[in-house]
Amino acid sequence: MEKEPLSEDIKKKLQDTFEALKDDIIIDVFTDKGKNDDFNKATISMIETLATISPKIKPAFHDIGDELSLKRDILRSPTILLSPDKFSIRYTGSPLGEEGRSFIVAMIMASTSSVVLKEESLRRLMELKEHRAIQVFVSPTCPYCPQEVIYAISAAVARPDLISAEIIEIFENQDLAAEKGIISVPQTFINGMLTSPGVEPEEFFIESLLTLKKPEMVTQPISDKPVESDVIILGAGPAGLTAAIYSVRAGLKTVIVEKANVGGQVAITPIVENYPGFARIPGKSLVDMITQQALQYVDIHISEEVKEIEKKGDGFHIKTNRAYYMSRSIILATGVSSRELNVPGEKRFWGRGVSYCAECDGYFFKDGKKVLIIGGGNTAATDALYLHALGAKVTIAHRRENLRAENRLQDSLNKAGIPILWNSTVVEILGDRVVNAVKILDTKKGNSTDFPVDGIFVAIGYKPNNEIAISLGLEMDEYGYVKVDNEQRTSLKMVYAAGDITGGVKQIVVAVGQGSVAALTAFEDLSSPYWKNNQTITDAALLEETQQ
Ligand code: NAP
Repeated sequence: MEKEPLSEDIKKKLQDTFEALKDDIIIDVFTDKGKNDDFNKATISMIETLATISPKIKPAFHDIGDELSLKRDILRSPTILLSPDKFSIRYTGSPLGEEGRSFIVAMIMASTSSVVLKEESLRRLMELKEHRAIQVFVSPTCPYCPQEVIYAISAAVARPDLISAEIIEIFENQDLAAEKGIISVPQTFINGMLTSPGVEPEEFFIESLLTLKKPEMVTQPISDKPVESDVIILGAGPAGLTAAIYSVRAGLKTVIVEKANVGGQVAITPIVENYPGFARIPGKSLVDMITQQALQYVDIHISEEVKEIEKKGDGFHIKTNRAYYMSRSIILATGVSSRELNVPGEKRFWGRGVSYCAECDGYFFKDGKKVLIIGGGNTAATDALYLHALGAKVTIAHRRENLRAENRLQDSLNKAGIPILWNSTVVEILGDRVVNAVKILDTKKGNSTDFPVDGIFVAIGYKPNNEIAISLGLEMDEYGYVKVDNEQRTSLKMVYAAGDITGGVKQIVVAVGQGSVAALTAFEDLSSPYWKNNQTITDAALLEETQQ
């Protein structure tokens, strides 16, 4: 029996979601037999199923080459158009996996003509006077792609007179991706110009849409009215999200500010197998559940970067690119970023075969392409197993002759027959438009060889995101991780830190544990400050001390 494209549970949820549909939504699906047949079949089956959920969804299936396909200039299979008489919204390739989410949002936007953009963005879009063709290159496993897609489709719905949006899946359209040298997603082009390699804040997207320039920094006017809170949490990974749940439940007015996207490193971890309660779960699914729970309690302000942070009197004043905050305490949960190799070719080929995110970029390599993973820790092992399971031809290069990845992962690598190049250091990344080889030095023999590859995944650990900690003058260890005590207090009163930014064991379960402790300690200190209770330090002395 054929597998249903959507489970009964998902269909039930979609039934509720589709209550929001207003106008009928026309979905024209174009396919060409013999081209991407598996994807054609999956697309048709998914659209047919969606149409059974709401009568407002009106699909029509066409062959490429028929009259309508010629009229609409459709050449690629599969292609989907959403309400084409009203909007110019095209999916070139199947909206599967992560793109399934953006497709549902796109349908709702096309049906209701309402969009997921801020008022200010909409106001700016109304100033546009010229045509804009947006193309977003995506893959079904890329957790960040739907955000760029939703910006693009929102723009096309808000200004159907001038803006078109095309979402291009890179595995089904490898020739298009190759033309632009795209291996990493998302990548956004506007009128043919690359405006964003990777996901970007909404302001950046709007700015480049209007100006056709890559914005360096968009600074919104800072509102006069500060957002006041008891706790401001900086960072929306597992530590920050958990801190928020505990903090609000303790009765503290709380807000989360996140520089990029919700989820931190977990959002790009292919599979998590050691979070209690879930034997095996994609990192993105786990973090989505934590986020949904946190959102029941707290506002999460994403794409907001802290520009200034200062201790003033009994609290902290924080300016971001969007707003001004005054908070009585801070929980720092800014996490870590991928460490770079710092070898020639690494920067040049970033997004052109060099990746730091197997979950985002792995799909492109699924049909037996050759990839090299660099590193010997849990990330390298997890990424290698994930890419192997996708169908890539995986090799690991490690600088020593034993892995530090946990034994269970090492056993899985053995079982999967993934070869490991021991005592091997990558000294250069080679290529033309895209990566085609890496130069590897055998540190034992002292000779180097060129190893042909289609892609490399760098998994050599992390560096702390400690810029805010530095601004606050927090005490850090020699590697730049923030020092905390058992209650997650840092060296500055009313500032706490939790999760990977504190160094030590970088596990999700540790991050959520520290997040909860940080919030409960903040509550304790705000309601009954130990330093006032024991009267060993006077207020004046405290002020003096905290201003040092
Ligand atoms: P890691 O454990 O620090 O390992 C980094 C690896 O990269 C090491 O094998 C290291 O080699 C190598 N390396 C470092 N710098 C290098 C360089 N410049 N050139 C070549 N190789 C280099 O990092 P990770 O694997 O990303 O893991 C980070 C943390 O996240 C760990 O605490 C890990 O347990 C956790 N994590 C957990 C899971 C899980 O539990 N499922 C999954 C992913 C990550 P040496 O061995 O020679 O030092």
